[in-house]
Amino acid sequence: MTDPEVRTREAVSFCRICSGGCGVVMTIDDNDRIVGIRGDADNPLTRGYMCFKGRQAEHSHHGPHRLLRPKKRLPDGSYIEISSEQALDEIAEKLGTILDEHGKDAMAIFLGNGGMFNIAGFYMLPSFLAAFDNDQYFSTLTIDQSGKMVAMGRLGHWGAGYPHLDDMDVAMFFGANPLVSHGSLGFLQEDPVRKLKQARARGMKLITIDPRKSETGNFADIALQPYPGQDAAIAGGLIRMILAEGWHDRDFCDRWVGAEHMDALRAAVDPLTEEYVEHRAGLDTGSLRRVAEMFARDAKSGCVTSATGTSMAPFSNLAFQLIETLNVICGRYLREGERVHQINGMGPGGPLQAQAFAPSRFWEATGESRIRGARKLFQDRPTATLADEILTPGEGQIRALFVDGGDPVTSWPDQAKTVAALVSTAE
Ligand code: SF4
Repeated sequence: MTDPEVRTREAVSFCRICSGGCGVVMTIDDNDRIVGIRGDADNPLTRGYMCFKGRQAEHSHHGPHRLLRPKKRLPDGSYIEISSEQALDEIAEKLGTILDEHGKDAMAIFLGNGGMFNIAGFYMLPSFLAAFDNDQYFSTLTIDQSGKMVAMGRLGHWGAGYPHLDDMDVAMFFGANPLVSHGSLGFLQEDPVRKLKQARARGMKLITIDPRKSETGNFADIALQPYPGQDAAIAGGLIRMILAEGWHDRDFCDRWVGAEHMDALRAAVDPLTEEYVEHRAGLDTGSLRRVAEMFARDAKSGCVTSATGTSMAPFSNLAFQLIETLNVICGRYLREGERVHQINGMGPGGPLQAQAFAPSRFWEATGESRIRGARKLFQDRPTATLADEILTPGEGQIRALFVDGGDPVTSWPDQAKTVAALVSTAE
């Protein structure tokens, strides 16, 4: 409770913990301490919503484990506090020595989820590397979202994005639980429970496909619980059925896909019969058809999306590609004249165009990494190779790593190798 003797002021800001970006009003005392926080009812997107995590701002800012000054590790493994000036001087000297001895590529940056919503850091870190003509940039995007980028590169993309939730007849989620994770496809990102309840109240259908009966699944008309790793097979089976029944958007496919590609798609999914997919994925007989009917036959608008669950499962690139293909064959994109609900308020803007952009397979234009010949996804090198990039001797071996808002030991693949790599940098 706020002491009535202590003067306070209010400040409007937004929560940086996740992609929800909830608007907040903080109460701050004369010592610049947060003594209260509430959702900002005047924020037009989040309308006063905040989740439990964001409400802990007072404790996360002023808790005993908050790092307020640099700490330096001593040879015996203990830490001492040092000033920022000393830290910067020592880092600059050490980094200069490493780059002089081993070349510009001996340094890398890893951006974790904790740094994703630090807008200054998000844009400055690649610029910092670019100043050294270095592109050793890694982040969590290649751990849990690489399939999205690969699908875009293989399929192309629609320049105007997806419709507004308020305009959808149906929403379908593979491996996503937006009521808890805040954000899939850009809708249900802010204030998700209230938005979903409103959409359901006006008649929007909801389908979830997830081995776990999720919180979002509890609201669903159909909540399929397949065996793990079957998203690609299920999406392919749905494509096969929708095309065979003629429930797709023929005009959209004629205009933006073309007969040759449609024939190739039909041939590719032909083995994925209803019986085969239901047996393979452990689904009840008839459940695939119920999903196809609700999504494609009975709905004129609405999208399907996939998220971390699909990303972390086998065949994730193929699964993302086939799931997005469901939107393509049903033409579930914003058309010219329809309202746009998402704008990029933080980054560089650009006109939205209601048209398809061709597949670019952009990674093929990037050089092969010395580890497994892996290529970049946009600006990101694959984090799955980072431990090997540190451990493998030779030109380009990473010897200095900056970590912003991340915890490599718990987030990189292969924990034992990650620990060995991090220990090696301290030697
Ligand atoms: S959903 Fe919660 S954690 Fe995410 S931005 Fe909003 S308050 Fe912060």
